[in-house]
Amino acid sequence: MRWLRFESGGRARIGYERGAQVQPVVAESLQEIIAGRGTADAGAPVPRGDVTVLAPLRPGKILCVGLNYMDHCREQKIEPPDRPTLFAKFPTSVTAPGAPIRWPADFSSQVDYEAELAVVIGREAKRVPEAEALSYVFGYTAANDVSARDVQFADGQWVRAKSLDTFCPLGSELVQVDDPQNLKLITRVNGEVMQDSNTSEMIFGVAELISFCSQSFTLEAGDVILTGTPWGCGEFMEPKRSLSHGDVVECEIEGIGVLRNPVISWQDAHGEPAPPRVAW
Ligand code: MG
Repeated sequence: MRWLRFESGGRARIGYERGAQVQPVVAESLQEIIAGRGTADAGAPVPRGDVTVLAPLRPGKILCVGLNYMDHCREQKIEPPDRPTLFAKFPTSVTAPGAPIRWPADFSSQVDYEAELAVVIGREAKRVPEAEALSYVFGYTAANDVSARDVQFADGQWVRAKSLDTFCPLGSELVQVDDPQNLKLITRVNGEVMQDSNTSEMIFGVAELISFCSQSFTLEAGDVILTGTPWGCGEFMEPKRSLSHGDVVECEIEGIGVLRNPVISWQDAHGEPAPPRVAW
C-alpha cells in the first residue's frame, strides 16, 4: 500500500494509491492507519492529479543521524564514526511535498539540501534488538533535512539550523519496502543531479538505528527517523554551493517517489510576508 495524506473538499484526508487515483479511507490521520484503524474505503476514488498532497503525518519525534553514509565520509576524507550521531528536528519543521522551503534571508546565506530515507515507526519500541527492529517500521518516505550551514557550524548544536519552519519536507507516499538497504537516492536542484547514491552506503542501517535509538528512549508510533544523507551536499562541493531563491529541489528515492519543493528565501525585496505555520 502507498498511503497518502491529501486535501480534498477543504479538509485533510487519508487515502491510498489505486493506479492513477487516490482511494480515500475512513481514517482522518495516518496515525490511525498505523494503529490499524480506519482502513475501510470511504467514497469514490479521485484522480491523483486533482488532489493537493500534504505531508503524510506530524511526527511525535524527528530523530536524525549525522554522517551515516560511507560516501559522505569519503568526500570529507574522514573516518566513519563508531556509533550513530543523533540529533533532532522539531515537528514544526515538517512541510508538504510541493510547498516552499522558506527562510528569512537575514537568517542564513548557506542553506543546503540533504535527501534522506525517512523511517516511520509503527509501534512502541523500547530496547529492541537489531534482529527484530524492522518489525517496528510502518513504512518509508522521502525527506529533505534542510540545513542552514552557517548557523549549524556557528551554533555547534544543530537544532536551530535544522528546525526552521519548512526545513523538513516529508512525503509524498508512505510505502512499505522489503529491503531498505538497497534503494537508489538522488537529489536534483533545478534538474541538475547533486546527490546520487544508494542506501547500501549507510554505515548504520535502519535496523541498527532503530535498535540504537530505542536503547536510550522510547520510540512511539508515528515517530520518524531521518537516516542520514550521502555525498553531494552543496557544503562539501568545491566551490561550495547553496540553495537560492527560485530553486527547485527534488529528492527521489527508488520505489518510494519524488519529493519536490521550491525555494523561497524570504526577504522584503521579494515582497513575501512571513511564512505561515503548517496547519494540522
Ligand atoms: Mg541529515
